[in-house]
Amino acid sequence: MVLAELGGSISRALQQMSNATIIDEKVLNDCLNDITRALLQSDVQFKLVREMQANIKSIVNLDDLAAGHNKRRIIQQAVFNELCKILDPGKPSFTPKKGKPSVVMFVGLQGSGKTTTCTKYAYYHQKKGWKPALVCADTFRAGAFDQLKQNATKAKIPFYGSYMESDPVKIAVEGVERFKNENCDLIIVDTSGRHKQEAALFEEMRQVSEATKPDLVIFVMDSSIGQAAFDQAQAFKQSVAVGAVIVTKMDGHAKGGGALSAVAATKSPVIFIGTGEHMDEFEVFDVKPFVSRLLGMGDWSGFMDKIHEVVPMDQQPELLQKLSEGNFTLRIMYEQFQNILKMGPIGQVFSMLPGFSAELMPKGQLDSSNPKLMNESRMMRIARGSGRPVREVMEMLEEYKRLAKIWSKMKGLKIPKKGEMSALSRNMNA
Ligand code: GDP
Repeated sequence: MVLAELGGSISRALQQMSNATIIDEKVLNDCLNDITRALLQSDVQFKLVREMQANIKSIVNLDDLAAGHNKRRIIQQAVFNELCKILDPGKPSFTPKKGKPSVVMFVGLQGSGKTTTCTKYAYYHQKKGWKPALVCADTFRAGAFDQLKQNATKAKIPFYGSYMESDPVKIAVEGVERFKNENCDLIIVDTSGRHKQEAALFEEMRQVSEATKPDLVIFVMDSSIGQAAFDQAQAFKQSVAVGAVIVTKMDGHAKGGGALSAVAATKSPVIFIGTGEHMDEFEVFDVKPFVSRLLGMGDWSGFMDKIHEVVPMDQQPELLQKLSEGNFTLRIMYEQFQNILKMGPIGQVFSMLPGFSAELMPKGQLDSSNPKLMNESRMMRIARGSGRPVREVMEMLEEYKRLAKIWSKMKGLKIPKKGEMSALSRNMNA
């Protein structure tokens, strides 16, 4: 789960403030101190955190706020806006257009997740109707071509590379040429990385870039380095025209917030984040919905995007209706399970809903005691009838209970219709 701990700590600080009978200087300071601590633990630069704290205090001048002003709301809004400000990296220099050939070159250090991310990026666009292709111009790392080939085959994406050729520029040019002739509209060139930022790496990047004239250069960076991301992003930007950044491994590291804010400070637009090793553990990075999810305020547009992506058109109204009724039966689970699983890890999907702080989601935290719905003899009968072990029937019921509990929280949620979506998310995030 993306930055679950950070989001949880900030939400708790805001909640505690909301619980106070009167919001005075002390309550506000306590709240801001808790938020500061959480951000520093996530490796956000001290200077940025100090600035944020000062900005909030100047916006929320308690003496000036007349009685009747909703102080809680003003403070929450200020925290939201300031978090957006420190995480907002701006817009990318170029956005590929469907049906028009674009060349996108990936750069980054070895181990950052560059090759994995190339395939995720291709797969993401393929699902949205693009015709992507992958070119492996990494001749430095043994096995790089095999890895790309394996990933591309799995995702059914055309690829180009060579075991014999050692000149990355030649491979890149040939690959781009071939896929342009095959009318691919998103040609992705994976370049080599090195363990360190070194002259040879930057020189090779420049040569491949000059030869293939990419429309966009994407820099891939591992979030575990935290605020050191600032120097790394600067170094790459100085060598090649980085137009966008993808920050990987946001699933496993406490320093993710530090990395994101450090990249934002270099004014390098983060367009996606990697949240796991699998192909679909990849999310568009959009600062307001991101902060909204971080604080448990939901991201309707992201959630609806997922629903529209995976649930067959004719089932969508029915599923949305059932979601809002909070009415979850075993039959619904059976009918929707395949679709829901296609949406990605369950916690990731539910964190897009208002009221579901990411921190609440980790598996195992939810009550998993045996459901009382069925007695032993019924379970035995079901097991015999379906030819499955009793253990599997019990596991299925446990899963049902876990999901039902999440589902029940959705009761009464107003599900926006497609046309209402942008207005609604604007309101929520305004
Ligand atoms: P490259 O050397 O930069 O091309 O890096 P690779 O693509 O080979 O990735 C290095 C390792 O990081 C592999 O084990 C990947 O599975 C893993 N990896 C890549 N992206 C992510 C991510 O977002 N989350 C996690 N947990 N692992 C990732």
